[in-house]
Amino acid sequence: MIVKEVNARKIKTSNNKDTIQVAINKTYVASAPLGTSTGKHEVRPFPREGIDFCVKYINNLKELIGMEFNKFEDLEFVEKYFKVVGGNSVLALQYALLKAMSDNEVFRFLNPNADKMPMPLGNVIGGGAHFKGNAPDFQEFLLMPNAKSFSENAFANEYAHRQIGRMYPKAKKDLEGAYALDFNNIRTLELLKRVLKKSEKELGFDIGIGIDVAATSFFRNGKYNYKNYSYLDSRKKLSRKEQIEFVNKLIADNNITYVEDPLHENDFDGFSKIRAKMVCGDDLICTNLERLEKAVGKVNTIIVKPNQIGSLIKTKGLIDFAKVKKITTVMSHSAGETMDNIIAHLAVGFDVSCIKLGIHGKERTAKIKELVRIEKML
Ligand code: PEP
Ligand code: MG
Repeated sequence: MIVKEVNARKIKTSNNKDTIQVAINKTYVASAPLGTSTGKHEVRPFPREGIDFCVKYINNLKELIGMEFNKFEDLEFVEKYFKVVGGNSVLALQYALLKAMSDNEVFRFLNPNADKMPMPLGNVIGGGAHFKGNAPDFQEFLLMPNAKSFSENAFANEYAHRQIGRMYPKAKKDLEGAYALDFNNIRTLELLKRVLKKSEKELGFDIGIGIDVAATSFFRNGKYNYKNYSYLDSRKKLSRKEQIEFVNKLIADNNITYVEDPLHENDFDGFSKIRAKMVCGDDLICTNLERLEKAVGKVNTIIVKPNQIGSLIKTKGLIDFAKVKKITTVMSHSAGETMDNIIAHLAVGFDVSCIKLGIHGKERTAKIKELVRIEKML
C-alpha cells in the first residue's frame, strides 16, 4: 500500500472531548479514544502544544507521501513521531495505515487463520469516575454471558441492560451508557443477581458477574474513601486490609467471576490476595510490558487499551508476552469513545479472550455490530 495522502482533523469523543482523526488516501479513517479514570502510568494522549498542533503536524508529514506500508511491523516507522504528537496521534495514524494496508479487513490481515470470537464483557451498571452524581463507588458492574456465539452473548448483555432500564425508567446513564443508580455496591450486586436470574431463565445460559472497582479513583491518603459503602454506612474509609476483605466478601457472597483494579494502581502484591477466578489489572498495568512483567504471579488477567501506551507494536508485544505467561487478555474500549470500530478487529486478529464494551450508545454498538459482522465471516 502506497501512501498518497494523509489528512488529520479534530473530532469529538462520546464525552465531548477533543481527539484526532486521521485519514490515509481519503478512504481509510481512524481515531483513538480517551480514558476518564486514567492510570498514572499511561502515556499522554497529546503533547502540551495541543491537538491543533498535532493536526497541523500530521497534515504536513511530507515524508510519508510515496512510502510503502505492507506489513504490521512497518507501523513502527511512525512511532518516532510519538515524542512530538503524543500517543493518540500515533495510534490514529497506525490504525488508519493498518486499515489501508488491509482494505478495512484488519482482523484477517493480522491473522489470516483467525477463527475465535472474544467473549463480550458488557458494562451494565456504572458509577465511580464515570458518573458525576450519586452512584456506586465501583466504576463498572459487568456481565459475562456464557453462550456459544458472540452474537448470543451480545444479545444477552443487551437483554439484561433493557431489563434494568424497564425497572428504573428514570435512571440516568454514565459515560459508557451503563445505568447510574443511586445504589451502594452491595445493593447493586443484589439487583444484578435478580436481573440475571430472570435473564438466564429466559435465555437458557449462565451469565457471570464482573466488577471494575477502579480503586485508584477513590484511594486518597492511604485509604479507600467510600461515599456509598453499604446500607448502614454510606461514607466509610477502608484500610488496605479492610479493602481486601471487603472485596473478597463481595466475591464470595455474589459469586463474582471477574474483578478489575480492586486495589490502587501500585499495589501489585494486594492483587494477589484477591480471590476471584479472574483478577484483572487495568490501571495497574496500563498496557505497559514492564508493568506486566512486574505483575506476573499477581494477576491472571489484563486489560489491553492501545491508547494507554500509544503504540500498536507495543500492544502486540504485550499480548504476546501475556500469552506466553498464560495471562488472559481483555481488549477494552475507553470512557471517551469514537465511532472507530478497530478494537473489534484487534480483538479477533490478536486472538484475545474477551472484549470489554459498553452495551448502549452509538460509539459502543459500532464495535458490537462489527464483531457480529466478523463472526458471520469466520
Ligand atoms: C476502565 O477503567 O476500564 C475504563 C474503560 O475507563 P476509562 O476509559 O475511563 O479508563
Ligand atoms: Mg478499568
